[in-house]
Amino acid sequence: MTPRATLLGIPWDRSSSFLRGAAAAPDAIRAALWSASSNAWNESGDDVARPEVLGDAGNLALPEDAAGARDAISAGVAELTAAGHRLILLGGDHSITYPILRAWEGQAPAPTILHFDAHGDMYDEFDGDRFSHACPFARVMEEQLAARLIQVGVRAATEHLKAQAERFGAEVYGPAQWRDAIGTVQAAAGPIYVSLDIDVLEPMLAPGISHPEPGGLSVRDVLEVLSAIRAPVIGADVVEYNPVNDVRDLTARVAAKFVKEIVGVMR
Ligand code: MN
Ligand code: MN
Repeated sequence: MTPRATLLGIPWDRSSSFLRGAAAAPDAIRAALWSASSNAWNESGDDVARPEVLGDAGNLALPEDAAGARDAISAGVAELTAAGHRLILLGGDHSITYPILRAWEGQAPAPTILHFDAHGDMYDEFDGDRFSHACPFARVMEEQLAARLIQVGVRAATEHLKAQAERFGAEVYGPAQWRDAIGTVQAAAGPIYVSLDIDVLEPMLAPGISHPEPGGLSVRDVLEVLSAIRAPVIGADVVEYNPVNDVRDLTARVAAKFVKEIVGVMR
Protein backbone atom coordinates (compact mmCIF):
# COMPACT_ATOMS: atom_id res chain seq x y z
CA MET A 1 0.00 0.00 0.00
CA THR A 2 1.33 3.39 -0.92
CA PRO A 3 0.01 6.27 1.17
CA ARG A 4 -1.95 9.11 -0.38
CA ALA A 5 1.12 11.36 0.03
CA THR A 6 4.75 10.76 0.97
CA LEU A 7 7.25 13.18 2.49
CA LEU A 8 10.76 13.43 1.05
CA GLY A 9 13.30 15.82 2.56
CA ILE A 10 15.73 17.64 0.29
CA PRO A 11 18.37 19.02 2.69
CA TRP A 12 20.00 21.44 0.25
CA ASP A 13 20.88 25.10 0.81
CA ARG A 14 24.06 25.58 -1.21
CA SER A 15 22.20 27.40 -3.98
CA SER A 16 20.91 30.02 -1.54
CA SER A 17 22.34 33.43 -2.46
CA PHE A 18 22.28 35.10 0.97
CA LEU A 19 21.90 32.68 3.88
CA ARG A 20 22.47 28.99 4.55
CA GLY A 21 20.27 27.10 6.98
CA ALA A 22 17.38 25.73 4.93
CA ALA A 23 19.12 22.34 4.74
CA ALA A 24 18.05 21.78 8.36
CA ALA A 25 14.41 22.52 7.52
CA PRO A 26 13.08 19.03 6.63
CA ASP A 27 13.71 17.59 10.10
CA ALA A 28 12.51 20.78 11.81
CA ILE A 29 9.25 20.67 9.83
CA ARG A 30 8.77 17.00 10.79
CA ALA A 31 9.34 17.89 14.47
CA ALA A 32 6.63 20.57 14.23
CA LEU A 33 4.31 18.26 12.28
CA TRP A 34 4.45 15.57 14.97
CA SER A 35 4.64 17.90 17.98
CA ALA A 36 2.15 17.07 20.71
CA SER A 37 1.21 20.75 20.79
CA SER A 38 -1.22 20.10 17.94
CA ASN A 39 -3.16 17.13 16.59
CA ALA A 40 -2.57 15.51 13.21
CA TRP A 41 -5.86 16.39 11.51
CA ASN A 42 -6.14 18.82 8.64
CA GLU A 43 -9.06 21.01 7.66
CA SER A 44 -10.16 18.53 4.98
CA GLY A 45 -10.82 15.95 7.70
CA ASP A 46 -7.74 13.75 7.19
CA ASP A 47 -5.68 12.33 10.05
CA VAL A 48 -2.18 12.66 8.57
CA ALA A 49 -0.76 10.43 11.34
CA ARG A 50 -2.42 7.45 9.64
CA PRO A 51 0.16 5.58 7.54
CA GLU A 52 -2.25 5.22 4.62
CA VAL A 53 -2.62 9.02 4.50
CA LEU A 54 0.96 10.28 4.87
CA GLY A 55 4.17 8.29 4.53
CA ASP A 56 7.77 9.42 4.94
CA ALA A 57 10.65 8.42 2.67
CA GLY A 58 13.23 10.26 4.81
CA ASN A 59 15.80 12.70 3.47
CA LEU A 60 17.57 12.32 0.16
CA ALA A 61 21.35 11.85 0.50
CA LEU A 62 23.01 14.54 -1.62
CA PRO A 63 26.59 15.13 -2.79
CA GLU A 64 28.13 18.55 -2.08
CA ASP A 65 28.44 19.65 -5.71
CA ALA A 66 25.35 21.37 -7.07
CA ALA A 67 25.19 19.57 -10.43
CA GLY A 68 25.51 16.22 -8.72
CA ALA A 69 22.85 17.21 -6.20
CA ARG A 70 20.44 18.24 -8.96
CA ASP A 71 20.91 14.87 -10.67
CA ALA A 72 20.37 13.06 -7.35
CA ILE A 73 17.17 15.06 -6.72
CA SER A 74 15.77 14.32 -10.20
CA ALA A 75 16.64 10.63 -9.89
CA GLY A 76 15.28 10.32 -6.34
CA VAL A 77 11.98 11.98 -7.22
CA ALA A 78 11.62 9.95 -10.44
CA GLU A 79 12.29 6.69 -8.61
CA LEU A 80 9.72 7.28 -5.86
CA THR A 81 7.16 8.66 -8.32
CA ALA A 82 7.56 5.58 -10.54
CA ALA A 83 6.98 3.44 -7.45
CA GLY A 84 3.59 5.12 -7.06
CA HIS A 85 4.42 7.73 -4.43
CA ARG A 86 2.94 11.20 -4.62
CA LEU A 87 5.58 13.39 -3.01
CA ILE A 88 5.48 16.39 -0.74
CA LEU A 89 9.07 17.61 -0.88
CA LEU A 90 10.51 19.43 2.12
CA GLY A 91 13.21 21.92 1.10
CA GLY A 92 15.74 23.13 1.14
CA ASP A 93 16.21 26.29 -0.83
CA HIS A 94 14.02 26.93 -3.87
CA SER A 95 16.66 25.78 -6.39
CA ILE A 96 15.37 22.23 -5.78
CA THR A 97 12.14 22.81 -7.69
CA TYR A 98 13.88 22.71 -11.09
CA PRO A 99 15.49 19.26 -10.63
CA ILE A 100 12.26 18.02 -8.98
CA LEU A 101 10.23 18.97 -12.06
CA ARG A 102 12.78 17.34 -14.37
CA ALA A 103 11.51 14.04 -12.93
CA TRP A 104 8.33 14.47 -15.04
CA GLU A 105 10.15 15.70 -18.18
CA GLY A 106 8.49 14.55 -21.39
CA GLN A 107 5.33 13.32 -19.70
CA ALA A 108 2.12 14.69 -21.19
CA PRO A 109 0.31 16.75 -20.23
CA ALA A 110 2.99 18.88 -18.57
CA PRO A 111 1.97 20.13 -15.11
CA THR A 112 0.50 23.51 -14.28
CA ILE A 113 2.57 25.00 -11.49
CA LEU A 114 0.91 26.91 -8.67
CA HIS A 115 3.81 28.90 -7.23
CA PHE A 116 3.52 30.90 -4.00
CA ASP A 117 6.43 33.27 -3.43
CA ALA A 118 7.43 36.84 -2.61
CA HIS A 119 9.86 36.47 -5.51
CA GLY A 120 9.44 35.46 -9.14
CA ASP A 121 12.55 33.22 -9.01
CA MET A 122 13.05 33.68 -12.75
CA TYR A 123 16.41 35.43 -12.99
CA ASP A 124 18.33 34.25 -16.03
CA GLU A 125 21.28 33.98 -13.65
CA PHE A 126 22.02 35.28 -10.17
CA ASP A 127 25.57 36.02 -8.95
CA GLY A 128 26.80 33.99 -11.93
CA ASP A 129 24.72 30.92 -11.01
CA ARG A 130 22.00 29.82 -13.45
CA PHE A 131 20.80 27.26 -10.91
CA SER A 132 20.54 29.65 -7.94
CA HIS A 133 17.39 29.64 -5.82
CA ALA A 134 16.59 32.89 -7.63
CA CYS A 135 16.41 31.08 -11.02
CA PRO A 136 14.45 27.78 -10.92
CA PHE A 137 11.40 28.92 -12.88
CA ALA A 138 13.52 30.36 -15.71
CA ARG A 139 14.99 26.88 -16.22
CA VAL A 140 11.59 25.19 -15.80
CA MET A 141 9.94 27.40 -18.43
CA GLU A 142 12.87 27.29 -20.88
CA GLU A 143 12.81 23.50 -20.80
CA GLN A 144 9.01 23.42 -21.04
CA LEU A 145 8.69 21.40 -17.87
CA ALA A 146 5.40 23.20 -17.13
CA ALA A 147 2.36 23.98 -19.23
CA ARG A 148 1.47 27.03 -17.14
CA LEU A 149 3.03 28.99 -14.31
CA ILE A 150 0.59 30.67 -11.91
CA GLN A 151 2.45 32.85 -9.41
CA VAL A 152 0.81 34.20 -6.25
CA GLY A 153 2.19 36.83 -3.86
CA VAL A 154 5.14 38.07 -5.94
CA ARG A 155 6.10 41.53 -4.70
CA ALA A 156 9.83 41.93 -5.26
CA ALA A 157 9.89 42.04 -9.05
CA THR A 158 12.74 43.85 -10.78
CA GLU A 159 12.56 45.13 -14.34
CA HIS A 160 14.42 41.99 -15.45
CA LEU A 161 12.02 39.71 -13.57
CA LYS A 162 9.00 41.47 -15.10
CA ALA A 163 10.50 40.94 -18.56
CA GLN A 164 11.15 37.28 -17.75
CA ALA A 165 7.58 36.81 -16.52
CA GLU A 166 6.32 38.30 -19.78
CA ARG A 167 8.70 36.18 -21.86
CA PHE A 168 7.57 32.97 -20.18
CA GLY A 169 3.89 33.88 -20.04
CA ALA A 170 3.76 33.62 -16.25
CA GLU A 171 0.36 34.48 -14.77
CA VAL A 172 1.35 36.74 -11.88
CA TYR A 173 -0.96 37.66 -9.00
CA GLY A 174 0.67 40.21 -6.69
CA PRO A 175 -0.04 40.32 -2.95
CA ALA A 176 -3.05 42.58 -3.49
CA GLN A 177 -4.49 40.27 -6.19
CA TRP A 178 -4.31 36.89 -4.43
CA ARG A 179 -8.13 36.61 -4.35
CA ASP A 180 -8.21 36.88 -8.14
CA ALA A 181 -6.05 33.73 -8.31
CA ILE A 182 -8.83 31.64 -6.75
CA GLY A 183 -10.96 31.47 -9.91
CA THR A 184 -7.92 30.77 -12.05
CA VAL A 185 -6.85 27.94 -9.77
CA GLN A 186 -10.38 26.49 -9.60
CA ALA A 187 -10.51 26.38 -13.40
CA ALA A 188 -6.97 25.05 -13.91
CA ALA A 189 -6.73 21.65 -15.56
CA GLY A 190 -4.40 19.09 -14.08
CA PRO A 191 -1.97 17.86 -13.36
CA ILE A 192 -1.06 20.51 -10.80
CA TYR A 193 2.28 20.88 -9.03
CA VAL A 194 2.37 23.19 -5.98
CA SER A 195 5.58 25.04 -5.13
CA LEU A 196 5.20 26.89 -1.84
CA ASP A 197 7.97 29.27 -0.80
CA ILE A 198 7.29 30.21 2.84
CA ASP A 199 8.46 33.78 2.17
CA VAL A 200 5.19 34.44 0.32
CA LEU A 201 3.86 35.13 3.82
CA GLU A 202 4.11 38.39 5.70
CA PRO A 203 7.51 37.87 7.39
CA MET A 204 6.15 39.02 10.76
CA LEU A 205 4.00 35.85 10.61
CA ALA A 206 6.81 33.59 9.45
CA PRO A 207 10.25 35.02 10.33
CA GLY A 208 12.16 31.79 9.65
CA ILE A 209 13.15 32.55 6.07
CA SER A 210 16.24 33.85 4.31
CA HIS A 211 14.75 36.80 2.40
CA PRO A 212 12.09 38.66 4.45
CA GLU A 213 9.91 40.76 2.14
CA PRO A 214 7.29 42.78 4.07
CA GLY A 215 3.78 43.15 2.73
CA GLY A 216 2.99 39.48 2.30
CA LEU A 217 0.03 37.15 2.56
CA SER A 218 -1.44 35.57 5.68
CA VAL A 219 -1.43 31.81 6.24
CA ARG A 220 -5.19 31.87 5.67
CA ASP A 221 -4.82 33.72 2.33
CA VAL A 222 -2.48 30.98 1.07
CA LEU A 223 -4.86 28.26 2.27
CA GLU A 224 -7.77 29.95 0.46
CA VAL A 225 -5.88 29.73 -2.85
CA LEU A 226 -4.57 26.23 -2.15
CA SER A 227 -8.04 24.90 -1.36
CA ALA A 228 -9.32 26.23 -4.70
CA ILE A 229 -7.46 23.39 -6.48
CA ARG A 230 -9.92 21.05 -8.19
CA ALA A 231 -7.58 19.14 -10.55
CA PRO A 232 -5.30 16.25 -9.55
CA VAL A 233 -2.10 17.27 -7.75
CA ILE A 234 0.98 15.26 -8.79
CA GLY A 235 3.36 16.68 -6.21
CA ALA A 236 4.27 19.66 -4.08
CA ASP A 237 7.18 21.31 -2.35
CA VAL A 238 7.43 23.48 0.75
CA VAL A 239 10.69 25.40 0.51
CA GLU A 240 12.85 28.17 1.99
CA TYR A 241 12.01 27.55 5.64
CA ASN A 242 15.20 28.59 7.43
CA PRO A 243 15.37 27.50 11.09
CA VAL A 244 18.36 29.84 11.67
CA ASN A 245 16.04 32.85 11.50
CA ASP A 246 13.03 31.28 13.20
CA VAL A 247 11.52 32.44 16.49
CA ARG A 248 10.24 29.72 18.88
CA ASP A 249 9.59 27.34 15.93
CA LEU A 250 6.72 29.56 14.74
CA THR A 251 7.65 29.21 11.07
CA ALA A 252 8.24 25.45 11.39
CA ARG A 253 4.62 25.20 12.55
CA VAL A 254 3.47 27.21 9.56
CA ALA A 255 5.40 24.92 7.20
CA ALA A 256 3.92 21.86 8.95
CA LYS A 257 0.43 23.35 8.61
CA PHE A 258 0.99 23.77 4.86
CA VAL A 259 2.13 20.14 4.60
CA LYS A 260 -1.05 18.97 6.33
CA GLU A 261 -3.32 21.07 4.12
CA ILE A 262 -1.49 20.01 0.93
CA VAL A 263 -2.33 16.42 1.87
CA GLY A 264 -5.95 17.61 1.92
CA VAL A 265 -5.85 18.83 -1.70
CA MET A 266 -4.18 15.57 -2.83
CA ARG A 267 -7.49 13.80 -3.20
MN1 MN B 1 11.40 31.15 -4.01
MN1 MN C 1 11.02 33.71 -2.09
